[in-house]
Amino acid sequence: MRILQATSELHPYSKTGGLADMTAALAKSLAREGYQVGVVTPLYRGLRQKYPDLKWFDWHMDLPLGTGRASAEVWVREPAPNLTIYFIRHDGFFERPGIYNERGHDYADNAERFAFFSKAVVHLARYLPWQPEIVHAHDWQTGLVPLFIHHLREREGWWTAPRTCLTIHNLAYQGLFPRAAYALTNLPPNYFQLEGCEYFGLLNYLKAGLAYADRITTVSPRYAREITTEEYGCGLDGLLRRRQRDLTGILNGVDYEEWSPSGNEHLPHAFTADDLRGKLANKAALLHEFRLPARLDRPLFGSITRLADQKGMDIQLAALQEMLAADLQFVLLGSGSVELESGYRRLEARYPDKVAVRIGFDPGLSHRIEAGCDFFLMPSRFEPCGLNQMYSQRYGTIPIVRRTGGLDDSVVDIADDPERATGIKFNAYSARALAKAMRKALVLYATPRLLHVMRRRGLETDFSWCRTAKTYVEFYEELLGVRG
Ligand code: ADP
Repeated sequence: MRILQATSELHPYSKTGGLADMTAALAKSLAREGYQVGVVTPLYRGLRQKYPDLKWFDWHMDLPLGTGRASAEVWVREPAPNLTIYFIRHDGFFERPGIYNERGHDYADNAERFAFFSKAVVHLARYLPWQPEIVHAHDWQTGLVPLFIHHLREREGWWTAPRTCLTIHNLAYQGLFPRAAYALTNLPPNYFQLEGCEYFGLLNYLKAGLAYADRITTVSPRYAREITTEEYGCGLDGLLRRRQRDLTGILNGVDYEEWSPSGNEHLPHAFTADDLRGKLANKAALLHEFRLPARLDRPLFGSITRLADQKGMDIQLAALQEMLAADLQFVLLGSGSVELESGYRRLEARYPDKVAVRIGFDPGLSHRIEAGCDFFLMPSRFEPCGLNQMYSQRYGTIPIVRRTGGLDDSVVDIADDPERATGIKFNAYSARALAKAMRKALVLYATPRLLHVMRRRGLETDFSWCRTAKTYVEFYEELLGVRG
């Protein structure tokens, strides 16, 4: 099987969230299974310096973009057998400090940037000598890809066009642009309608993908069900209900080569399911790094997140205000909303011995928090998959999650099944419900035998990409008609 992935983020080259981790791990796992895999991604600032082995690919693209044209070079890297990364170089679009925005403001030309990127993907899909059989697009940034391929297949006689699929990593981000941006597609007007990429008079990149991809996936089974409801459908639930037969939820995996409690360059102390002593040493090191008093016998809660509405950081702030009267400590790594940043800063100022906050994006520190904490908080309003609750389990840290999306699919609550429990879940989106879950955590912490059993169970749970990749292979085979 020959698969071309298209993504605006790819670990380790670029990342703002889980999309980067997922696309990298999926590509790597498929290539390892022997499938031919290409990944197309933009050449962002600094990558050529950081990866001197990037090679110029003898290919120059010059593509129509609205009334003008835009051209790009292609650079390649082959990090593993069967795996080629194609970097689209257009300095005007991608040689910038941010991926989508700068200082909280989206780039004004995101419609141009990702329309062009999607055209470049389709151009590669069409002319690469190895002829991909499947083009797998991700999120709104490549939402136009399935539409372009559909058009070429149906209207321009590209009979051998690849099959397409689009993965929704987060339905809340749709790539909405004024209707005038439709001219950037250089397509006939008929796709700009209710059944196509129009959304209340605007152009919707994600909807283009949802309407024209041969198949749609999302990153957990529960989220696949949730997004067909009005509550979680972000205005696209009608379309998703119509396409329900083509919609599948596949839980993301964890790249255990990156996220491992032993042999990990980011962790000062290694540990395993059989010997958790290193975990306590990591807790001490983490408290030291955050300049908090070393209260090793007190529970340490942690959070690593985009400070966004989706992530439940408002109810978390309120719950902490209530819970910090108890003897616990809390560390946070995150960035995003200015109000939330200052809310957490105020909490830190009020409880300097108990709370430490680091504003920023720091992958190394995220490993140390996952490994050093006792409990990891994820009170998301909605969560397509979520990765940190799975990373926590890998690091023997108990996740406390709201019962939604992928959080529900990847954590087992004590009350649901004591024999298989790996975490604590709560239902209502409220500070009260979260505080109650944190109180359960305090009880668990005071019951060391049970805490130990749950930690071990988390460490031994299989969220490996091998398992996830196998499910994608079956899905691709079905898409190609190889499987019934
Ligand atoms: P989302 O993609 O919605 O942000 P996920 O849980 O799917 O949420 O993935 C988030 C990824 O980004 C995880 O790998 C997480 O560790 C990482 N991450 C989020 N915020 C930060 C941060 N401030 N510093 C380092 N890594 C972060």
